[in-house]
Amino acid sequence: MTVALDRRRILKASAIVGGGLLLPACTTIPKPRGVSATCMPLARVLADPTRVIRTVAGLRPYRASGFVVRREALGDKALVHNYGHGGAGITLSWGSSKLAVDLGLPGHKGAVAVIGAGVMGLSTARLAQEAGFDVTIYAKDFPPHTTSNIAGGQISPFGHFREDSVTPEWRLQFRAAMDYSWRRFQIMVGDDYGIRWLPTYEQSSKPVLRSDWMDAYYPHGRIVPQHEHPFPLDNVVGFDTMYVETGRYLRQMTRDFQVAGGKLQRREFANPANFADLPETLVFNCTGLGSRALFGDEGLIPVRGQLAILLPQPEVRYAFSGEAGYMFPRADGILLGGTFERNVWDANPDPAAIARIVDSHRRLFAGFRCTA
Ligand SMILES: Cc1cc2nc3c(=O)[nH]c(=O)nc-3n(C[C@H](O)[C@H](O)[C@H](O)COP(=O)(O)OP(=O)(O)OC[C@H]3O[C@@H](n4cnc5c(N)ncnc54)[C@H](O)[C@@H]3O)c2cc1C
Repeated sequence: MTVALDRRRILKASAIVGGGLLLPACTTIPKPRGVSATCMPLARVLADPTRVIRTVAGLRPYRASGFVVRREALGDKALVHNYGHGGAGITLSWGSSKLAVDLGLPGHKGAVAVIGAGVMGLSTARLAQEAGFDVTIYAKDFPPHTTSNIAGGQISPFGHFREDSVTPEWRLQFRAAMDYSWRRFQIMVGDDYGIRWLPTYEQSSKPVLRSDWMDAYYPHGRIVPQHEHPFPLDNVVGFDTMYVETGRYLRQMTRDFQVAGGKLQRREFANPANFADLPETLVFNCTGLGSRALFGDEGLIPVRGQLAILLPQPEVRYAFSGEAGYMFPRADGILLGGTFERNVWDANPDPAAIARIVDSHRRLFAGFRCTA
């Protein structure tokens, strides 16, 4: 059995279980400079209020019963939904959009309409273009003014449904979406899309030994012994994953879409009857939280997340999450976050919450047992 991480439990739990890596008996690993027998240094994040360069809040489009990818008829048009991805919309974007285009495109002739220009709309539009269709994206707002621009950008299928509220059929969709996204993001790693792999440390209360299909998305998953990290924490687990600098990524995706002949049109739809005016007979609904008002989906709720962004520190090449919140280092700044506020519709950051986020990280990094 391999050591695997149940992130959902790791973030919630509080009891501690230790562990270590097993090495072959005669292995001698030379220690890098500055490494003691008890502490492996990492660059310290300077989590100081004076280094905050901006603050943001965004509303995750959360559905306890999971994202919606479904086809239905709307008058003489076909409508394919692709919305409701909670805190995992960047992660699931390619795969969920692949499910959507596979429901919509076969047998379709003519141009295609995509409603919404966040990560889901852009991915859906690109996949339709790759399949040879002319596409127009209609949206109320375009990047950088979408929720997708606010996302931290960790590739992790986390925080987008409740275990006891989803169907077996939906689980199959989730699994297929994750598989496609995972492969697609890997071939986009690099500066042009702002995607990179980073080692990720998580404060753990109860590392779980398990083996299931999600292990594949937490490669190098392990319990990190104390002498292999500097955090002032008893239990830390680790894995590697990709991080997306969302501003740069969405800019590049929009360019790709336009270079391939795609058209952008600003338009707000008050209800589905407005789609009747569109010249296209196939419409993809990628309106995120907007689907609640547009389609009366009461199960879709906002889960607000707030972020403090600090001056960039290129030397910080790892991510962290735990009781302090989370820290994702990106070229455009160090993201400190960690709030999950259900049913809060106000998309303005709350200064008191931001101050708490910065302070919890200040205390965490000030407590480093050794530094690089
Ligand atoms: C603080 C925070 C951190 C996050 N971190 C991560 C993370 O680390 N990893 C991850 O995978 N996900 C993360 N997410 C989640 C992610 O941001 C969302 O799941 C994702 O952005 C949803 O994308 P979307 O395209 O469906 O919606 P949006 O980005 O909201 O795009 C919706 C589009 O539809 C348009 N629209 C809406 N209503 C209408 C209408 N009536 N008429 C016309 N156009 C309309 C909008 O203008 C917009 O263009 C985070 C979210 C937040 C808030």
